[in-house]
Amino acid sequence: MIVLTIIYDNSAVDAKLKADWGFAALIQAHGRTLLFDTGGNGQILLDNMRALQIDPKTISDVFISHGHFDHIGGLSHFLNENGDVIVHAPLSFRGVSHARAVKYYDHPQKIYDHFFSSGELDHIEQSLAVDTDNGLLLVSGCSHPAMAQILGAFAPFGPIYGIVGGLHGFDQFHLFDEMTLICPAHCTKAVLEIKNRFPQAYVAGGAGRILTIG
Ligand SMILES: [Zn+2]
Ligand SMILES: [Zn+2]
Repeated sequence: MIVLTIIYDNSAVDAKLKADWGFAALIQAHGRTLLFDTGGNGQILLDNMRALQIDPKTISDVFISHGHFDHIGGLSHFLNENGDVIVHAPLSFRGVSHARAVKYYDHPQKIYDHFFSSGELDHIEQSLAVDTDNGLLLVSGCSHPAMAQILGAFAPFGPIYGIVGGLHGFDQFHLFDEMTLICPAHCTKAVLEIKNRFPQAYVAGGAGRILTIG
């Protein structure tokens, strides 16, 4: 079973959480607890984690999608709480200190069993995919590279079950036709259009959204 909890987002679906421009999510799957991005503000990240009863010390890995402030702004705050983590960063990202190790990704590859990175695409961003019983759940920070490119990077690892995260200017809607779950968050501009086109698959984003799959 996979549990994905949106910790940090432009909007909030849980009144205990603060909404702020940025994105972070916790992924609990296959025996691992991984933080995906860290939002823009470290204090908000840690406050929202506390409100969700997420102990930073239970996290073993931090996956950084890209170096924009709204995804890495909370990283140093987080590492002050728990530096005993492996940071998984896109190739061009620099400036991680106080982590146990930093790994860089420049091409699509397996990170761990059941976890995959697209590698850095377009010299800016990597996305993450996690195995579910029904295919890959893709987690994206902003989706700055073209969606076809992101999906293509994961094609060797299996069919895509769904996608969660920031979809920026995404408008190639047909690429999502086969998806079972679509949870647009953060910077997604076409939220309304996605909701209208995919009423069965659509789930609203927002800090406090908890997705349980498989
Ligand atoms: Zn962003
Ligand atoms: Zn960005």
